[in-house]
Amino acid sequence: MTLAELGWNDHFAAAFAPHAAAGCVPGRVTLELKGYYEVTGEFGAKLGACSGKFINTAKAQADFPAIGDWVVVTPQDGEETRVHIHAILPRRTKFSRKAAGLEEFEQVVAANIDTVFLVSALDGNYHLHRLERYLAAAWASGAQPVILLNKADLAGEDAADLPAEIAAVAPAVPVFTVSAQTRRGLKALAPYLAPGSTIALLGSSGVGKSTLINRLVGENLQDTGDVRDVDGKGRHTTTQRELLVAPNGVIVIDTPGMRELQPWDAAAVVGTAFADVAALAARCRFGDCSHTVEPGCTIQAALADGSLAAARWQSYLRMGRVTAHEVRRVNRAAQQQHKSHHKKLTKNLRQRVHEKSGEE
Ligand code: GDP
Ligand code: ZN
Repeated sequence: MTLAELGWNDHFAAAFAPHAAAGCVPGRVTLELKGYYEVTGEFGAKLGACSGKFINTAKAQADFPAIGDWVVVTPQDGEETRVHIHAILPRRTKFSRKAAGLEEFEQVVAANIDTVFLVSALDGNYHLHRLERYLAAAWASGAQPVILLNKADLAGEDAADLPAEIAAVAPAVPVFTVSAQTRRGLKALAPYLAPGSTIALLGSSGVGKSTLINRLVGENLQDTGDVRDVDGKGRHTTTQRELLVAPNGVIVIDTPGMRELQPWDAAAVVGTAFADVAALAARCRFGDCSHTVEPGCTIQAALADGSLAAARWQSYLRMGRVTAHEVRRVNRAAQQQHKSHHKKLTKNLRQRVHEKSGEE
């Protein structure tokens, strides 16, 4: 596997230059476990652990590697299964969620995703407000959002209005109506699937993310990307890598945490997704304008002349009200799911490492 195939580019190369001088090599985190990482580079796939110095200087959970990160490791001799992680190269993009401990803290769910497909289904399971929320997460991450309206084959007549409705809440975001089943509209996505670019899919369960992934990468990933394992009882099981280089060269990050992501900093996220509304509100005559009856209110003026859609203003108000409470609730559920997923992966990986190194 070459670095370019893993998503390496001039940006990362520049950030890595000082580490190269120190004799280190780069690798990408392709599987994240509790305290361990699978790091893939020109040396192959190895088990990585953070060096003591790294751990001592890390100040927060978010300073530790996440799936998709480029990390700086010391090369080991061919037979060695482990590498030490010394540093993380600055993240170009990151998806975070709020995790609960003694205090709430930021947990990075995935890093360096270029394009995030926000998937909804047109089979009646479509919710504009859920989409707005995913959009907010995408804006906060720095990744380019692309909206996919899947299951076009099941769409009712009212679906024809949706792209326009979406354009009103998601100005300048590309929207594609597709069917993973009939493959309608999928060819148009080619520009986002260039070799070496990293993608992820966000959306509720059942909207067709798994089906879409397999269509987008040109082959059934389940058949090509799995890591073979033996579980504790000696049975063969499969553990899916969380970062996969697909047969067509695109890199896919697919984790339960990404699939059901809810944003980390709801307030900041609302500000980013609704930057246009926030900019209007900032120009009201009174600093504490309630945007209802005050003279010199730019929001009321924009609503009146149609430059701000009433639906978008309502969404903005709704987001502000629901985020704090709802994001907390959803995150708790996602965290539980993530925990059980990790438990299984950790067990499998430990087993694998023991086999390779002949321990036990
Ligand atoms: P995920 O939970 O988002 O990963 O969704 P899946 O990929 O597992 O899809 C859920 C169900 O929807 C499966 O039964 C798929 O076969 C079906 N499905 C996915 N895409 C389409 C589509 O474009 N049209 C139709 N009719 N069904 C689809
Ligand atoms: Zn106002």
